[in-house]
Formats: sequence, structure tokens, C-alpha cells
Amino acid sequence: MQRYGGRRRGRRRSGASAASNGGPYRGAVQATVPRDLELPKTLTVKQLADEMELDPISVIKELMRNDVFANINQTIDYDTASLVARELGYNVSAMPEAEEGFAAYSELNLEDDPDKLVERPPVVTILGHVDHGKTTLLDAIRESKITEGEVGGITQHIGAYQVDYNGRKITFLDTPGHEAFTAMRSRGAKATDIAVLVVAADDGIMPQTVEAIDHAKAASVPIVVAINKVDVPDADIERVKRQLVERGLVIEEWGGEVIAVPISARERMGIDDLLENILVVAEVAELRADPDRPAMGVIVEAQVVKSKGPLATVLVQTGTLRQGQTVVVGSSWGRVKALMSEAGRRVSSAGPSTPVEILGLGHLPQAGDTLWTVRSEKVAKDLIRDRQRRLDAERQTLTPTTLEEASASIGRGDVSDLNLIVKTDVQGSVDAVRGTLEKLAVDGARVNLIHAAAGTINESDVLLARTSSAIIVGFNTRVEPGARQMADVDRVDIRHYDIIYRLSEDVQRALEGLLTPVYQEIVEGHGEVRAVFPVGRRLRIAGSYVTDGRITRNAAARVIRGGQVLHSGSVSSLKHFKDDVREMTAGYECGIGVEGFNDFEVGDVIEVFSS
Ligand code: GDP
Repeated sequence: MQRYGGRRRGRRRSGASAASNGGPYRGAVQATVPRDLELPKTLTVKQLADEMELDPISVIKELMRNDVFANINQTIDYDTASLVARELGYNVSAMPEAEEGFAAYSELNLEDDPDKLVERPPVVTILGHVDHGKTTLLDAIRESKITEGEVGGITQHIGAYQVDYNGRKITFLDTPGHEAFTAMRSRGAKATDIAVLVVAADDGIMPQTVEAIDHAKAASVPIVVAINKVDVPDADIERVKRQLVERGLVIEEWGGEVIAVPISARERMGIDDLLENILVVAEVAELRADPDRPAMGVIVEAQVVKSKGPLATVLVQTGTLRQGQTVVVGSSWGRVKALMSEAGRRVSSAGPSTPVEILGLGHLPQAGDTLWTVRSEKVAKDLIRDRQRRLDAERQTLTPTTLEEASASIGRGDVSDLNLIVKTDVQGSVDAVRGTLEKLAVDGARVNLIHAAAGTINESDVLLARTSSAIIVGFNTRVEPGARQMADVDRVDIRHYDIIYRLSEDVQRALEGLLTPVYQEIVEGHGEVRAVFPVGRRLRIAGSYVTDGRITRNAAARVIRGGQVLHSGSVSSLKHFKDDVREMTAGYECGIGVEGFNDFEVGDVIEVFSS
């Protein structure tokens, strides 16, 4: 079992034997030889109890005796903790500040020292369509080449692993898929150097393959293609290659730059070839880091472990992370109490591109959070405060999130790219919309189509839009409920069009910096026409049932038939039986007259809106 917290010198005492001595344990403890205990500047009651291997309740009682009323998760300072620990028979001393000689700095964005850069292993993420073999490939690679001579040994899932291929290391993030990839990126982390795109040779490029390609491109991450399942009889490698070219990934043998490796993840074929090619791409990318600087990394995975607190996997990106160091993660800080390799072994440090588990964080971090080593607890606290201030300020000066805001930014010359994500009803429309948008041109501004595909607007689209400051355009398609919620929270603009002309007009105006905000109309209610009554010779009244909301006299209305708007005009008359009324609500029948329209048919919908 790993110890949580500070260093303890001297003989260990078991909690059970202390308990058997009864009471608040004071007498029992004092009767034995005092033990040494190093305590940090702050820790929770629980951590203090763990340190002393006592039941937290007894620590709480001891605190109460000293007029400190703290619950199990509350943080207490060194003075309080040491008072209690001393009374419980410990020789207490302060835990030393992090390593001597540790570079002092107060800026988060400390640059690597160019003279100290050394090569670091590439960090690889596996992307691709569901069932194309991502997990099988991760398993195959892991089994074949685990480092540290761990083959056959117990390795645990910690969210990332490292393999050794011909003396060179490669780190794999083993949460496959572009959703996780972009979710991490949306938190500001660029964890991946190379994306391996898995395409099943029998299935070819599928919708999520296209999403994966676009997500990798949006992140400017080079792609290596693994054409998987070449063992199955109907595998068609050439077809996959052709499809890749259609998606802008021209493979090497056809004069392009993309490496495609045929493999069978299940039969463990072609794995070495794939690893070798990953290293070729890594070489071109010239991945370097400075192992001497304070560490910076990204959280890959995290969970709370009973009695130990948050356990997080950090992928160290630069610098070296060491036991005892103070770190800032997201909006909290902690002290690295223990580092564990993926094999579950205690290690004292972890260098660039190394995944390592750490104990000692104050709060549970999220995947994608950045971790920074800092000189001291004080610096940590200052940084967190500073960062919060900066985040608040950023929220005020928002990056453009609506088409109108983007247009205004283009108009001011702040940005030149209009990032769009296009989703359409059918594949044919994707090409039509793409063709139209690509033709739009304005000096100094252009459309950057980050992703275009057929299908509903999903959460992955919203995530990509948020990460790339893009606007989502839906053409004859709908938004999935989860995606709608996410878009509302993240202020992602989703625009709907059903006529290409309207779309190109809006985008053209946006590029010219001329699109002005439209005040969104609010739909107030709908009436369904059930009968049509003549009034006089020409006028017609629609005998309608109010299906939702309300219909109000004089409100703006439109008549819709078969999804098409036939006419717009105000509600000129509203009757309930013979009486004129001002408003009718859902569930009632009424007679509606719409100004300038007399051609009602049964089945028409009258939509009332305000703007
Ligand atoms: P993921 O959804 O992309 O992670 O796909 P999985 O790794 O779960 O694989 C989906 C299915 O394809 C499983 O039944 C695998 O056994 C199978 N599979 C994966 N790789 C291969 C392969 O190289 N050849 C064959 N024949 N089947 C494979």
C-alpha cells in the first residue's frame, strides 16, 4: 500500500494496536517511543489521520479538545496539525520545501531553454470509427512492446502507456477516439503529437473516420493511417487509399505525405511497421523538451481512491516531475507525495513524454487540465489567484461565438478566418454547401471549413466548435438534445438554413464584416387549421386548434403548409365562438384571421411569433 502524505521516520505503529489501547489514544501513544512526523503547511484532517494511522474520528476529537471544530475533509494548517500530532506523541517537524536548487520562477509560461532541449518520445492518440479496431490495436501494441521488461507482468490501466521499439520510446494515450482527444484540447492541452487513424479495410472510411480526420486537422496533428483488418477476406486496401485521397489525405505511394500502414490488430500483423513509421513522423516533427526545467504536464485521467485522495495520471510534457514538488493543477494545488509508473512501481521522477500516476493533489482534476510545478505553496496560491483573475478577464473579452460577432471581428480586422462546421441532411448537400462556401471570397477574409459531414449536429461537433471558435451551420438537419444543451452552456452558435442561397448570403456578409445582429424572434404558439369558414364574399377564417403556446390578436404570424412558409402577416381577428378575444391558449379552438391571406387549407399551421 502506498503511504499518503509526509515522510515518517522511525518505527510504524499500527492503528489497530493504538485502538486496542482505547480512549483517545493519548495515553497509549505517549507510553511508546515518540515517532518523527514531517507535516506540510496544510493538510486535511483525513490526511493527518492517515499520516498517524489513526481513525479520523479520534483526530477530530483531539482537535475539538483544542477548540478546533473541523470535519474530516477540512484543511488545517501546520500549527494546528502539529499541536494535535504532538499531543498524540509525535515529534513533528515541517516538511522541507521542494528540492534544493529547484529553479525559482513565478510565471506559468516559462519557456524551455533552447540549449538544453533533448529529443522526447512522441505522444500518440488512436482515432477512428467505432469497431474499426482502436482498442484492439492499443492492446496489441501494449502487449508487444511494454517497456521496463514488464512483459507478462502486471500492468494497470492508467490512461497512457509507453512502449519501447528498437531502443526508442513511444507514448500512447489509451483513451481512443476524437471526443476524448478534442475534450482534452478544449481545456487548453495539446497532449498529442501524432494521431493514428484506424480505418478497417473491409468497411472503409465511415462518418467517425471523417470526424477524426477533421478533429486531427483542426489540432494540426500529423496523421499516420493504420489500415486495419487486412486479414478479413473482403479487405480492400486500395479502396481505403482512394477514400483517403478523397478526404485530402494523399498517401506517400501516390505522391503525398501521409503514411498508410496495412495492419491486422487482431492477428498482430504490421504492428512493428506501424511503430517504425510513427517514429519516422516523430523525427520529422522534431519533438524536443527540456528535462531540467520545472515540470509541466497534462492530466490524462483521474479518480478518487479511498483513503488516498485523488490519484491522477499526468503526462509530463516538459521538465521533470519529482516527488515532493508543489504543483498547480487547474484551480487547485497539491504536493506530489508519490509517483507511480504504469507498472504500479514507485518512481522518484518522471521526464518528458512519460505518463506517471501521482498522489497528493488537493482536488480531483479533470482530463486535459494542465499541471505546473511551482517553487512553493505561496507561489501556487498566488498563481491560482492570478489565473482565476485572468480567466475572469478572458470571459469578459469573449472570442467571437456567434456569426454576427465573428463578422464584427472580421470587420475590425481582428480575425481573417471564419471557422465553420457544416452538418447537412444528406451527403449530396455536404458537397453543395462546401462548393458554395469555398467560392465565397472577400479580400482578407475567408471561410475555414473545419468539418463538413452529413448527419445531425452532435456533441462532438459542439466540442470541436468550442475548441476551434467555430460556428455550426445546420442545413436541413437537427440538433441532438445533448448537443443543444452543451451549445447553450458553451455559447456555441448553431445556425439553421434550408436554402443554400440564404446561407451563402449570410456567410458572404459575415466575411465582409457587415452581418449585423438580428434580434431573434420568439415563437409564441401554433394553431392547426381544422376547418375553413368564409366571412362575407372574400374573407376566410381558419377554424383552428391551438396546439401549443398562445395566439394573440395583432401578433405577427406566418402560415405554414408542408414545412413551407406561404405567407406572413399579423393576426387580424381572433374569435372564440362568436366573441372577439385578445388571446387563446393551448387546448382551445378559435377562429383566426391573418391579414392579407384567404387561402387557408385544413392542415395548415399558423405560427405566431414576436421579435
Ligand atoms: P474500436 O471500437 O475501434 O475500439 O474497435 P475494437 O478494437 O473494439 O474492435 C472491434 C471489433 O473488430 C472486435 O470484434 C475486434 O476483435 C475486431 N478487430 C479488431 N481488429 C481486427 C483485425 O485486425 N482483424 C479482424 N478480423 N478483426 C479485428
